[in-house]
Amino acid sequence: MNIAYINGEFLPLEKARISAMDRGFLFGDGVYEVVPVFNGKLFRCDQHLARLQRSLEAIQLNLDKPIESLSTIVDSLRERMGAKEQSIYLQITRGPSMERAHVIPDEYTPTIFAYSREIPALNIDDLRQGVTAITAEDIRWQECFIKSINLLPNVLLSTQAKQQGAKEAILLRDGYISECSHSNVFIVEGQDILTPKLDPSILGGITRELVLEIAKTKGMTIKEIRITEQRLRDADEIWITASTSHIAPVIAVDGQAVSQGQAGPLWEQMIHYYQAYKQSL
Ligand code: PLP
Repeated sequence: MNIAYINGEFLPLEKARISAMDRGFLFGDGVYEVVPVFNGKLFRCDQHLARLQRSLEAIQLNLDKPIESLSTIVDSLRERMGAKEQSIYLQITRGPSMERAHVIPDEYTPTIFAYSREIPALNIDDLRQGVTAITAEDIRWQECFIKSINLLPNVLLSTQAKQQGAKEAILLRDGYISECSHSNVFIVEGQDILTPKLDPSILGGITRELVLEIAKTKGMTIKEIRITEQRLRDADEIWITASTSHIAPVIAVDGQAVSQGQAGPLWEQMIHYYQAYKQSL
C-alpha cells in the first residue's frame, strides 16, 4: 500500500483528497520534489529540499514553516513505507482559494502533499541495456530551473518519445541541447564528459550534480558548456540522469546508434563509481 501525507495527516494514498479550488489544481500554482530512498536511507534529502526552497522562492510561495521541517514528513513516510528502495513525491501548492483569480492571494494556506512508492533497486545489468531517445524542440517556458507542477510540455514530449518507440526526448533550444523531458543529459567526446551549462531554462538535477562531483573526485574530465545538436549527434556516448532512473546510457538517438548501440566505457566507469558512492553511505 502506498502511504500519503496531506496537510498534517498520514493516510492511504487512495484516501488523499484536496479541494477542487486548490490553486495547484486550477492554475498549476505549485512546485514539487522527488526524494529517493536507497538502501533504506533518504538520498541527498538536503539537496532536494534546498532546490525546493529555490522553487518556492521563485514562485513567491511562503511556507508557514521552515523548509527543514519537511524532512520530518519525508522521513516519516520513508519509515512508514518500510521498503528499502522508494520514491517520495512531495508537492506544495498555494492551497485552496474560493475565488478563482490569477493574482496571488494576500493570504493563503499551502497544501502540502507527499506520498511514497516502492521502486526497484538499481540493477546495473538492466541499466546497461540502455535506452533510446528522440530529439525534440524544447517547447517549455524559460524558467525550467523551477521544479513546477506545470508539466504539460514534459508530458507531451515524453509521449512523443513513446509514440516514436523511445524512452526519452532530448530537448533542443536554438540549436543547443538543454535537457530531457524528465532527466538531464551528458555526452562523451573521447575522454571528455560534457553536460549543458546550467541556466534558468534547465532544471539543476541532483543526479547531474552528483555525476559532476564524482567525475571531479575521480579525476575525470568534465565540463559544463553549451552543446550543439551536431555534437550530440557525433557523441561517443550519451547518458541521461535522474534520481530514480540513475544514470542510463542512451544507445540510439532518432534511430541512429550511439556507441555502436551499447553502453560505452566511460558510462561503465561512472556507474561503478556511482554505485560505490551509494553503497558507502
Ligand atoms: N530535468 C527534468 C526536467 C526532470 O524532470 C528531472 C527529474 O525529474 C531531472 C532533470 C533530473 O533531476 P534529478 O536528478 O534531481 O532527479
